[in-house]
Amino acid sequence: MGEMAYRFGLIGFPLTYSFSPFIHQVFLETSGKQGSYELLPIAVDAQVNERLQAVFAQMRRGDYDGLNVTIPHKQGVMACLDSLDEKARAVGAVNTIYRRGEYLIGTNTDVEGFLLDVGQKLSLTEGGTALILGAGGAARAVAWGLLKSGWQVWIAARRLEQARQILSDLSTEESLQSERSSRMRALSLQDGIEIIEKESPNLRLVVNATPLGTKGLEESSPFPSQFCLPKQTCFYDLVYNPPETAFIRNAWAKGHQAWNGFGMLLWQAALAFECWTGYRVAITPEIETEITLRIRSSHD
Ligand code: NAP
Repeated sequence: MGEMAYRFGLIGFPLTYSFSPFIHQVFLETSGKQGSYELLPIAVDAQVNERLQAVFAQMRRGDYDGLNVTIPHKQGVMACLDSLDEKARAVGAVNTIYRRGEYLIGTNTDVEGFLLDVGQKLSLTEGGTALILGAGGAARAVAWGLLKSGWQVWIAARRLEQARQILSDLSTEESLQSERSSRMRALSLQDGIEIIEKESPNLRLVVNATPLGTKGLEESSPFPSQFCLPKQTCFYDLVYNPPETAFIRNAWAKGHQAWNGFGMLLWQAALAFECWTGYRVAITPEIETEITLRIRSSHD
């Protein structure tokens, strides 16, 4: 009997531009495993719950070995699962589902994916203050990861109450409770850069966790193009398509280091793949190049 073929899928909408099938195809080849990665587009309409439940019923029967979840279902799927691990609970969002027997378990590999990628670019253990722009699911994952790594975290959102909600949710997390909210602060994006320039000379990292800069919003950025920050402040854009956003270009123009979220995307996928197969793919420059080539040739 030959080795089993894995069957993975991605739930989200729209999925037309997803890089995940290319990434997981390369992981399957690298690990010498057989399998497929399907796109399962599910729009938010009157049938959304039935369609999600149908996919989960298939997975419970063993038809799927693993699922990824993306916008707009990262929160919505939580109620359909049998349990959530600590990361999914803390972040309040699921991006990976795995099976143990008939049970479906939700986790979140964005947290560790972000830390693994950023940790290759700067020293996470040195700590510092990070400013996160946006207060959605990805902002929560980044905030939690940095707090766990001992950082100060400022969250700036266009709706201040959304940033405050993250603070209050994360400061009731058991593992962070001892220090409570002393290492967190909520700001409104409109308050502008002034508070940040004035009050945080040790700002080490600015993270774009809004969709501004993505295809269709190419020229927009949540950060002003005029700012004055110390040279050691680095910029990280969770957006990776296109690879050079206005946020990144502005930072470069001022002499700062800046990276896009492609590395995080690869690491969160590698962690999901490990969770499903037990095989850890290391994200090397060679793997990154191979995946980039596959994505490019698919768009030709
Ligand atoms: P989300 O839950 O929809 O949150 C988006 C956040 O951005 C919300 O706080 C939203 O505020 C804010 N926002 C949207 N439009 C804005 C605007 N014009 N001005 C100011 N703020 C605005 O989305 P998410 O899941 O957190 O994802 C955010 C981005 O990160 C997406 O582009 C996603 O593709 C990317 N991401 C990348 C990776 C990776 O691996 N690199 C992983 C996860 C996510 P409102 O609620 O007020 O709209």
